[in-house]
Amino acid sequence: MSTTPKVSTSSTASSRNGPRVYKIVILGEGGVGKSALVIQFVSHRFTDYHDPTIEDSYQQQARIDGEPAQLDILDTAGQLEFTTVREQYMRHGEGFILCYSITDRRSFDELLAHKNLIDRVRCNENTPIIVAGNKCDLEQKRKVSTEEGRRLAEQLGAPFFETSAVNRQCVDDVFHGIVREVRQKEYDELV
Ligand code: GDP
Ligand code: MG
Repeated sequence: MSTTPKVSTSSTASSRNGPRVYKIVILGEGGVGKSALVIQFVSHRFTDYHDPTIEDSYQQQARIDGEPAQLDILDTAGQLEFTTVREQYMRHGEGFILCYSITDRRSFDELLAHKNLIDRVRCNENTPIIVAGNKCDLEQKRKVSTEEGRRLAEQLGAPFFETSAVNRQCVDDVFHGIVREVRQKEYDELV
């Protein structure tokens, strides 16, 4: 067996003797529910308040399509600017969740700016992304139609889900979905 040390930021990172590590980054305007989605995915509970300035990473294991995965998720703090941690994650991140709120049109309009940021850092490499229209439990406050979300995702070549961190709707679909996108990209590069 090779004794070459593995660097955790490598695109083929795996924890020692553990499942393959997937470095995932969630991006989007402040207040769209990024932290609530991550915490719902990891802890199966809805947090009504999470300090909007905290940028933190979370680890979660999951079995996706029969294969174990270790998700290493960076929950970013909204701004379209770089911190050292974020820049590192953006560079080494393998899959990106672009999140807006269906109740906030501006957050939807800003999504392309976040996509541009990814492209800039990663030199327009074909990066796996997924689009999440969150807060879909707030139908009466909806400002962005499902069709608009779907069209934007299509334009970006990304899968699309409307999610709710309150009732866990499509939360697994988004986090498992981004791992599937990363796996698909790896598969495409092999063939
Ligand atoms: P972040 O700044 O993107 O991390 O957003 P937060 O996770 O801090 O959420 C911002 C606010 O939206 C908080 O008051 C959350 O409780 C609320 N929130 C987050 N997700 C949802 C959701 O799916 N539905 C509803 N109704 N509220 C949500
Ligand atoms: Mg947050």
